[in-house]
Amino acid sequence: MKRPIVLHPDPRLKKVAAPIDDVSDELRALADDMLATMYDAPGIGLAAPQIGVSLRLIVLDCVKEEGAPPRPMAMFNPEVVSSSDETNVYEEGCLSIPEIYADVTRPEAVTVRWIDMNGAEQEDTFDGLWATCVQHEIDHLDGKLFIDYLSPLKRQLITRKMVKFKRNKATEKA
Ligand code: ZN
Repeated sequence: MKRPIVLHPDPRLKKVAAPIDDVSDELRALADDMLATMYDAPGIGLAAPQIGVSLRLIVLDCVKEEGAPPRPMAMFNPEVVSSSDETNVYEEGCLSIPEIYADVTRPEAVTVRWIDMNGAEQEDTFDGLWATCVQHEIDHLDGKLFIDYLSPLKRQLITRKMVKFKRNKATEKA
């Protein structure tokens, strides 16, 4: 089931999300809802706070080659255990900040540890777009947005644009 996406600025996007004790059926259903919401948007990653749930859960699928099979991933309590010294610049966007893109520098590769849908611990190293995406999503769990990497001036400009965007959206609905 698709869920509505929380748009910036919103206090729910600034909160540190709580860890998950146990991967229950309810949480698996939540992960499925998040994947459906992400694919529908469409996007390549989504964090639980973006649908207003303050839990440490992210989903992603960064396969972008045409015709390649999808690779949906759900990560409970994901954490970066090591990152490369080499960095990479990607033009990032965010489903909570639609139509805004900006270059962000992050480690080129990261090793991430998480709990999977079956409750098993996993560890894997990601690079390229996957590395950027997984770091972007984990940031959401700590109340951090990609625009927090930009200058305060740029950030203010984007936030002002978003306030207007949300206002227009609210009037459209009314
Ligand atoms: Zn995002």
